[in-house]
Amino acid sequence: MAALWEQNIRKVVPYVAGEQPTDTNIIKLNTNENPYGPSPKVQELADHMDSDVLKKYPDQTAGDLVRAIADYHGFKPEEVFVGVGSDDVLAMCFMTFFNSDKPVLFPDITYSFYPVWAEMLRINYKTLPLDENFCIRPEDYNEPNGGVIFPNPNAPTAVLMGRDKVEEIISSNKDSIVIVDEAYIDFAEEGSSVIDLTRKYDNLIVVRTFSKSRSLAGLRIGYAVANEKLIKFINDVKYSYNSYTMNTPSIVLGTASIEDDEYFKEKVEAIKKTREWFTEELKKLGFRVLPSSANFVFASPRTKTAEEVFEEAKKRGIYVRFWNKPIIKDFLRITIGLDEEMKKVVDFLKEFC
Ligand code: PMP
Repeated sequence: MAALWEQNIRKVVPYVAGEQPTDTNIIKLNTNENPYGPSPKVQELADHMDSDVLKKYPDQTAGDLVRAIADYHGFKPEEVFVGVGSDDVLAMCFMTFFNSDKPVLFPDITYSFYPVWAEMLRINYKTLPLDENFCIRPEDYNEPNGGVIFPNPNAPTAVLMGRDKVEEIISSNKDSIVIVDEAYIDFAEEGSSVIDLTRKYDNLIVVRTFSKSRSLAGLRIGYAVANEKLIKFINDVKYSYNSYTMNTPSIVLGTASIEDDEYFKEKVEAIKKTREWFTEELKKLGFRVLPSSANFVFASPRTKTAEEVFEEAKKRGIYVRFWNKPIIKDFLRITIGLDEEMKKVVDFLKEFC
């Protein structure tokens, strides 16, 4: 018989992230990491970091990093919030802004952490279907709600929604907070971000990460940009929860990364180029490939099931992502790695599919 204390436990179904195998001899294309590694300036600083700085608590405002991000985007530090990866920033936003009886709206095919946070925090939510081309339909986001959130480009589809459509959702929801999760926006066409619209709309929050385009997934840095008032609300929740979320090495190394824009742009371009080549190769093999604006592609094989390809690839040391879920079970999400890695993937697919 279950103990009585069991009734008081918060029971949750956790988010399942892609595998992080310890074997380094694999081609790891399952968690949208960036294969190039961070800026050499990050390495330089890491080499010279004095461990004595670790004896003190970190700067709870992560001031240097916040200022670097604010400068980079042309905002004030008061308009930026940083957290332990964008997962932390998004979770804080769920806690801070989604506190209504009306449902929070997000797409049915999207980042699968959203329903997990909603369930854990007992937030009412409703998912809205994508259209037949896996696009978000802005006109659906017009019903009464307690907030709206979606990634742009969406995940795991990699499909981008044009700025005008994103703005349509923001402007038709002026009584709710709208969060645009731009985890992958650096891989999209220039001018696709709506970060500037945070000045025009007081209900908009844009969330970004250092994990993908800055190749710093291991450091755990994410941030939100919004007007001062909204950032203050997130900070109030953060300081009611854990003052020291950002550790000192993250603050120092993250700041160095943002200062090396040349390296950042060069590597983003390299990934986009490899993505275009890889997409063409997949199409030649008969795959259906959704148009990608991210550092991964969402593709459906023609001659084998996605699950068969996923299993066989894994046996051969190629890790990609597959979800055995309605609507997307015919697709694989494949991160864009180095050219030589993607060539090996194509060779494998040519042989197996
Ligand atoms: N948003 C989306 C859409 C993602 O795919 C991810 C990566 N899993 C994240 C946010 C979180 O990334 P991170 O916590 O590494 O910043």
